[in-house]
Amino acid sequence: MKTITRILLSLCLGHLMGAGALAMIPGPPVIRECPGCHQALEQLTILSGNLNGAKTWTDGKVMAPMLPDFPLLAPCPHCGVLVWIYEARELWRKGLGQPATSEWNEAWDHLKLLALPSEKALLDYATTNKLTTEKEVYVRLRAWWLANDPYRFKEDGDRLAWSEVQRANLVALASLLDTKQDHNRHLKAEIARELGNFAECEKLLSDELNEKCEQTAKIIRALAANKETVVREVRKASLDRSGDAK
Ligand SMILES: [Zn+2]
Repeated sequence: MKTITRILLSLCLGHLMGAGALAMIPGPPVIRECPGCHQALEQLTILSGNLNGAKTWTDGKVMAPMLPDFPLLAPCPHCGVLVWIYEARELWRKGLGQPATSEWNEAWDHLKLLALPSEKALLDYATTNKLTTEKEVYVRLRAWWLANDPYRFKEDGDRLAWSEVQRANLVALASLLDTKQDHNRHLKAEIARELGNFAECEKLLSDELNEKCEQTAKIIRALAANKETVVREVRKASLDRSGDAK
């Protein structure tokens, strides 16, 4: 049975890696029901992960090979409807050392995995659904990250112009971010920078942010001073390249 094999493999990997294990350990999947077509969906989980080898960018995206960002909103592989995975009815799960809440159905052995939503699907979803602020921020933030993805590993060069819908997404996202929280202030300043509104960016970052956000804020301030609009990786090299942020 696929699930049991996965659990055993996970436990073996954890054992082989020892107490200071650096590997990400996948958890048992949870089977849920698509609210659109009522077919089964497989939600992947992890038992443990870490930030080894992680890369962070000025727009807040973190890519961590040992801590994957499983999407909370994903297209059903059967009907394509976007599903908030934690809201889909749970059909089966098994906790470690606990009995399954129901019997495993052999029909779930070959479920297709949830795909990642496209930028267009997210933008359409955000503009055609009445969402809570928290959900709308999630959707618009992911759409922004997808728009920035082609530029993440480019050392030089500027971005092509934002499309009208991409720009509207950034304006809408910025309006949803409560700047009392430093993380949101950093995101809003980065949006201003990427849209070329450098004075607004610098104003939003005129006060020092908390320790966790300040390193990124320094890079954003320096990039804004250089009138750069492209997303950048947060690392010391970014500070060096931007000159006055050292
Ligand atoms: Zn479906």
